[in-house]
Amino acid sequence: MPKVSIDRDRCKGCALCVHFCPEDVLELSQDLNVKGLYPAVPARPDDCIMCGICALMCPDACITVCKLTDEELKKESLHDREKSNV
Ligand code: SF4
Ligand code: SF4
Repeated sequence: MPKVSIDRDRCKGCALCVHFCPEDVLELSQDLNVKGLYPAVPARPDDCIMCGICALMCPDACITVCKLTDEELKKESLHDREKSNV
């Protein structure tokens, strides 16, 4: 499964990645980051085709695109669940 990860606190909300994503995966968040800007977020991650255009376009190298194995996916959802229980 593709995984798009954006460093929200480094993102300056320029929306280049949002505009260039061919699958409309990304959008600007409604919540401010630590810089007081609206960062890009992967709103529809299941639609990502791992083309890497967003990562190439980002002027600040805030985006990483990688493919998760089933095992990694399980760990990640476990981690997310633990975080939401805090
Ligand atoms: S890798 Fe491609 S499809 Fe996936 S979020 Fe980035 S630009 Fe969109
Ligand atoms: S291109 Fe980079 S800095 Fe601009 S909104 Fe996307 S992630 Fe943020």
